[in-house]
Amino acid sequence: MKTIDHWIDGRTVQGASGNDGPVTDPATGAETTRVALASAGEVDAAVAAAKAAFATWGTSSLAARTKVLFAYRALLDGHRDEIAELITAEHGKVHSDALGEVARGLEIVELACGITTQLKGELSTEVSSRVDVSSIRQPLGVVAGITPFNFPAMVPMWMFPLAIACGNTFVLKPSEKDPSAALRVAQLMSEAGLPNGVLNVVHGDKVAVDRLLEHPDVAAVSFVGSTPIARYIHATASANGKRVQALGGAKNHMLVLPDADLDAAADAAVSAAYGSAGERCMAISAVVAVGDTGDALVQKISDRAAKIKIGPGNDPSSEMGPLITKAHRDKVASYVEGAAAQGAEVVLDGTGYTVEGHENGHWIGLSLLDKVSTDSDAYRDEIFGPVLCVLRAETYEEGLALINASPFGNGTAIYTRDGGAARRFQLEVQAGMVGVNVPIPVPVGYHSFGGWKDSLFGDHHIYGNDGVHFYTRGKVVTTRWPDPSDGGVDLGFPRNH
Ligand code: NAD
Repeated sequence: MKTIDHWIDGRTVQGASGNDGPVTDPATGAETTRVALASAGEVDAAVAAAKAAFATWGTSSLAARTKVLFAYRALLDGHRDEIAELITAEHGKVHSDALGEVARGLEIVELACGITTQLKGELSTEVSSRVDVSSIRQPLGVVAGITPFNFPAMVPMWMFPLAIACGNTFVLKPSEKDPSAALRVAQLMSEAGLPNGVLNVVHGDKVAVDRLLEHPDVAAVSFVGSTPIARYIHATASANGKRVQALGGAKNHMLVLPDADLDAAADAAVSAAYGSAGERCMAISAVVAVGDTGDALVQKISDRAAKIKIGPGNDPSSEMGPLITKAHRDKVASYVEGAAAQGAEVVLDGTGYTVEGHENGHWIGLSLLDKVSTDSDAYRDEIFGPVLCVLRAETYEEGLALINASPFGNGTAIYTRDGGAARRFQLEVQAGMVGVNVPIPVPVGYHSFGGWKDSLFGDHHIYGNDGVHFYTRGKVVTTRWPDPSDGGVDLGFPRNH
């Protein structure tokens, strides 16, 4: 059986730890390949390659860096289908959705192509007599990225293009569940002319992650994944003196006010809840229906959800694919199975769903739970599957309070025709990304992505200006070119005159 190996110093390096893990096709349940799981020593080899490459890449010209990035942009553009097929084969999402993921990753590459503008420093002349001050930003060194299964190409591309454009070198540890797309997008950087060692990929599990978190030559860590692991990554990397941004899980609410266009709200709720089988950190997993909208809205969502075609991601007629693993499928099903006992009305139950001819795939149908209570498991946990909870609130204030009581604060949306209410919501809601009649408000590349509360640990959001700040550190240079007459010792604190 073919194995998926590491990519270190510009070449494939076979796993030597003796450990590997299964990669399955979620549509068939069959193991298609094995992925090498790195030992601490193999991680060290990748970090050493990145450290050596930093000696020249860190001081390379902006022209040299952007030349690679523009070539990379063109290569990625030409390989969209191939990358999307790799995503579908290991993640399971439908091809059109996988293409969307590649497009959103490309957006960050385009941002990185414009790094020349982002890295322009600041200069103040004559701050004091014959004194100028300039602020510059410099790369950190070796940066590590640890990424989740649900966007195997896009999330790595949230990180390495910008980090590398800023002059850093990079070690990526992709999800071991679907590693091929991340590996391919990294290899394309070499084809675009990136020097060996600037971007390395080590596959692995906790062993590899822990080594990256403690390695003295890793300056910073970008992480995207679930909240418990994000919290751990932030604490451990910080304790080891590293800069860290750790994006976690979510429970994203859509507040539907009585004046909303209910058809538009129902379309949006179905698209955002069940797209990618709910395995999106920006999926809408809770709809809060305000006033008397609940019954009509639930009916409209249910009508639409019942028509969604579920099937293999590589079948063009499929709208929703399988879940990532059998274990995850069973966990998602358990929330639906336990919902009625915890007071919810089960409007749609997808737990018995299977696809003919693909009976071993990780299938689950769409589930819709109504009148869900805030202390039920289905509401409190991030289910990360095609399960939409509907909650009821009497007023805007009650709905807002419910959303703000959630420990998560990634994305949220309001559906209304009332500009005043929408304006209040965007100021009052405690979440990092807000949609006004937009269900999945993933920011464009030149604005940063990040949540609040348990959805992000650290100070920096990812990509956009925050990304550039995260991957660089500031330096301020104060310069005087004195006249011969300027001499003399003065022990006082420097003052401007
Ligand atoms: P995960 O936390 O299980 O894994 C993420 C990464 O951490 C993987 O590379 C994995 O190998 C590693 N990892 C797992 N367990 C570890 C441990 N005990 N110690 C060290 N490393 C460990 O997440 P996942 O299941 O791959 O992805 C889904 C989660 O990611 C969801 O919670 C989703 O909301 C979240 N997510 C968040 C965002 C965001 O931007 N906030 C984006 C995408 C996904």
